[in-house]
Amino acid sequence: MSTPTLRVAVVGAGPAGIYAADILSKTDLDVSIDLFERLPAPFGLVRYGVAPDHPRIKQIIVALHKVLERGDIRLLANVDYGTDLKLDDLRQFYDAVIFSTGSIRDAALPIPGIDLDGSYGAADFVSWYDGHPDVPRTWPLEAQHVAVLGAGNVALDVARILAKHADDLLPTEVPANVYDLLKASPVTDVHVFARRGPAQVKFSPLELRELGHVPDVDVIVYPEDFEFDEGSMAAIHSSNQTKQVVKTLTDWTLKEPEELTASRRIHLHFLHKPVEILGEDGKVVGIRTERTALNGDGNVTGTGQTHDWPVQAVYRAVGYFGSPLVDIPFDDVAGVIPNREGRVVDVDGEHIPGVYATGWIKRGPVGLIGHTKSDASETIRHLGEDVAEGGDAFYTATDREPKAVDEFLAARGVDVITWTGWELLDAWERSLGEPHGRERVKVVPREDMVAISLGRDVPTA
Ligand SMILES: Cc1cc2nc3c(=O)[nH]c(=O)nc-3n(C[C@H](O)[C@H](O)[C@H](O)COP(=O)(O)OP(=O)(O)OC[C@H]3O[C@@H](n4cnc5c(N)ncnc54)[C@H](O)[C@@H]3O)c2cc1C
Repeated sequence: MSTPTLRVAVVGAGPAGIYAADILSKTDLDVSIDLFERLPAPFGLVRYGVAPDHPRIKQIIVALHKVLERGDIRLLANVDYGTDLKLDDLRQFYDAVIFSTGSIRDAALPIPGIDLDGSYGAADFVSWYDGHPDVPRTWPLEAQHVAVLGAGNVALDVARILAKHADDLLPTEVPANVYDLLKASPVTDVHVFARRGPAQVKFSPLELRELGHVPDVDVIVYPEDFEFDEGSMAAIHSSNQTKQVVKTLTDWTLKEPEELTASRRIHLHFLHKPVEILGEDGKVVGIRTERTALNGDGNVTGTGQTHDWPVQAVYRAVGYFGSPLVDIPFDDVAGVIPNREGRVVDVDGEHIPGVYATGWIKRGPVGLIGHTKSDASETIRHLGEDVAEGGDAFYTATDREPKAVDEFLAARGVDVITWTGWELLDAWERSLGEPHGRERVKVVPREDMVAISLGRDVPTA
């Protein structure tokens, strides 16, 4: 008996899932791949995380689009793993399942006051400004002075979007509701607080330099925050990235006060650890930071010296965190699916046959889009080895025809959106942008996205 076509489900159509599907499709295996996505549109955080004023990065969608446009990988969007189907269902139709569900929520920051009104997670704000269909359409932009806690690119994104004049976002795909609220924002000062020193921040050189070019926004740094210990010097010498970041920051310390004429400012503070969000009547009125000191190896200890900053809103950008999936093990500490190089393992560390992970849900929410490609290669290499080793025994699915899963979802009343559906939505969004010389205007309400993709009447039109 000849070996049947291997049936593989990939769950999550962000970059990790699309790269994994692409790499798998190019192996020697005779394989048929279905790519599931809970949202009505593919591309994950490239569409719903990367800031709208980063069109160059958003262009990665062009490459991902080309992969799916080929037609050999089937997209089944608007299908939620956990609600619309679960592992046992997938096992009925597929020999292997790869989870690439990424991360969408904020990591916790357990300091007093974190639950006050006016204290927000960066992930929620990002979802809002990027027009994620499952978050509220409004955002309370009432603060004049804002604190952003964190020392990575997401902190920079949040600070930049808050400080930027809304009209400078107009050429981008920023949704109309987001533009309107940003336009009315009274913000003048955004303070970014990093716990460690300038040589320890995780900013990318390009993203940092970009801050210096935002129209009518000054970047201010404070010379007293510039401390370099042995660990810092080692970091500067061993990493070109760190060297560039430190150079950009140091150049900013040389600015003369009369050069600072903008109506809005982003202040970058180093060696300030947030210890408490201050509140009055349940609302944020300030942030207390503790001065830290480098202790030789690049880490810091608190000095006990605190400073209160009057701010009316606080955004924590201290990292993303994965979400658990039904019937799949989850590491509550790391926020990932426990795995060995992409092979998902149970509590005893044994590989759960046919179950794999890739992308942020595999290795945690760090790294750029490009990293998800090498990640996917590793996972697919192991899947290939397992197929070779398992021989015919690997082929466990009982309902192998692609239409079987379509019938299963139809019977459950799921409005599956295929690649053709995405093409309709893509064309619609482009047509909204065209009269204004913009590449696209995003459709935000989920029900509208679904209706457009399925060629139905648009509810809110
Ligand atoms: C705010 C922000 C800005 C960023 N900016 C940049 C940048 O400028 N440059 C850069 O290189 N990288 C950037 N990144 C990093 C980049 O977005 C990630 O490296 C990458 O998106 C991770 O890919 P992923 O596929 O693992 O996860 P994701 O992109 O999160 O994709 C996961 C997909 O799985 C889907 N999913 C989740 N749960 C389910 C479920 N139960 N059923 C079905 N589908 C599900 C999600 O809807 C999503 O589409 C940024 C990240 C963030 C958060």
